[in-house]
Amino acid sequence: MEKKEALYEGKAKIMYATDKADELLVYYKDDATAGNGAKKGTIADKGVMNNKMTAFFFGLLEKEGIKTHLVKVTGEREMLVKKMDMVPLEVIVRNVAAGSFSQRFGVKEGTPLKISTVEFCYKNDDLGDPFMNNYHIAALGLATSEEVAEIEKQALKVNDILKAFLKEKKVDLIDFKLEFGRLDGKIVLGDEISPDNCRFWDSDTHEKLDKDRFRRDLGNVEDAYKEMLRRLTGEER
Ligand code: ADP
Ligand code: UDP
Repeated sequence: MEKKEALYEGKAKIMYATDKADELLVYYKDDATAGNGAKKGTIADKGVMNNKMTAFFFGLLEKEGIKTHLVKVTGEREMLVKKMDMVPLEVIVRNVAAGSFSQRFGVKEGTPLKISTVEFCYKNDDLGDPFMNNYHIAALGLATSEEVAEIEKQALKVNDILKAFLKEKKVDLIDFKLEFGRLDGKIVLGDEISPDNCRFWDSDTHEKLDKDRFRRDLGNVEDAYKEMLRRLTGEER
């Protein structure tokens, strides 16, 4: 697949046009940011590993009936996806308190939540991705109430599938962020699923196997991504 012009360069990926108007080529970079770009760095081979892990998770989800934007993997750092009209929301699902949830509500990290919880942030870097509720989404016309209900339903189903799968790999799924788009009038899962946007903790030791190692300067960042890839696919890189 021939790459055409870059349509958008984000913090972790570049989206290229292709010779098909309805498909994009996603290029996964090694760049890492935290705190809305305040902290910047690179994680060696992150792009290669996140491309593989996203393709793996999307394959698993497709088998369980969740539609995703993935068309096919086209290279070490590249996948072809359906171009979508993205809903500008970060859809966060939580099973265990961590990060901003712990801070906002004064709950110790690692406290299990009584129910799996969905929350929304407005995907807007200039505003620092503010917290948003269903009324705000409808009030600003970002998505209809029906679309929001569908997003919640799919996000919770993704949670059930990933949580059960990861448990077998001795990984606890603490929380994660998804992005959805519209494709042929339907809500479809897009973007990526990787240690960049999930919290994965080893089930026995509770060791962090995700981007918190970078965000919090815990060291062994590359090793954590490698370990996740190994547990998912058996591959070393
Ligand atoms: P960010 O924009 O947060 O810096 P990335 O570097 O990951 O993030 O850039 C990827 C961009 O592509 C995001 O803005 C994301 O919403 C968007 N995107 C993801 N999947 C699709 C898709 N299928 N069609 C169109 N845009 C997409
Ligand atoms: N997350 C993300 N992008 C963001 C914010 C959060 O991918 O811009 C993911 C993050 O990796 C975690 C979950 O969403 O798995 C919840 O993050 P939280 O709200 O606790 O934010 P943080 O502590 O990272 O500020």
